[in-house]
Amino acid sequence: MTEEYKDVRDLAANAPYDQIYILVNTDKYGGGAIYNYYATCVNFNIHSEYVFVHEFGHAFAFLADEYYTSSTAYNDFYPKLYEPLEPNITTLVDFDSKWKDLIKEDTPIPTPATKEFEKKLGVFEGGGYVEKGVYRPKQDCSMKSISVDDYCTVCKRAIQRMIDYYTGK
Ligand SMILES: [Zn+2]
Repeated sequence: MTEEYKDVRDLAANAPYDQIYILVNTDKYGGGAIYNYYATCVNFNIHSEYVFVHEFGHAFAFLADEYYTSSTAYNDFYPKLYEPLEPNITTLVDFDSKWKDLIKEDTPIPTPATKEFEKKLGVFEGGGYVEKGVYRPKQDCSMKSISVDDYCTVCKRAIQRMIDYYTGK
């Protein structure tokens, strides 16, 4: 990430743009993003393509991290008494405002992370850096683990909504 954000904006002002993406010339693994500010990604790592897609989700569509078992752990990043603003995680405080309209009526909430629901949309516990109390829409997604083209339906909808917003649809 950069602390020289004004310099970044000054440079970016040389061209019309909607998003800023900083590519870092290294083979180390890493990336980061702040919604509506910028994203960063390394460009010579074996997982660079994945990191690019994942961080784009944060910067462009305000997607949350769906992972929870990682060295990047922040306890209480999402207070359980409130519904997080990000579209792809929920604390079930106000699930109606999230992806409830996308899941089948017979899908249990919370949804067990079993083979039966492996490919289905549901409400799976674990997400937003914690194992308990925060839920994600699918067992796996590009916002959870290293998979380049695997955004879940909820993340895809959030990205589509942002594209519609930018294009005036
Ligand atoms: Zn997702």
